[in-house]
Amino acid sequence: MALPKYKTSRANTHSRRANWKASAAQTVTCPNCGAPTLPHVACPSCGSFRGRVYRDAIQSAHTK
Ligand SMILES: [Zn+2]
Repeated sequence: MALPKYKTSRANTHSRRANWKASAAQTVTCPNCGAPTLPHVACPSCGSFRGRVYRDAIQSAHTK
């Protein structure tokens, strides 16, 4: 396996990592309750996905 010949300087490491940014998760609106939810995932607020309820809600508007 190839090995790096020199230690990467702190400036190079930091300037490379300066472009790492967290991006906001894309959300879709739940057709059942209208809450924002992750695509292709059962809604955390009502537990429904594609017209069926798959599990209990993790957190609903009433528990908060
Ligand atoms: Zn929902």
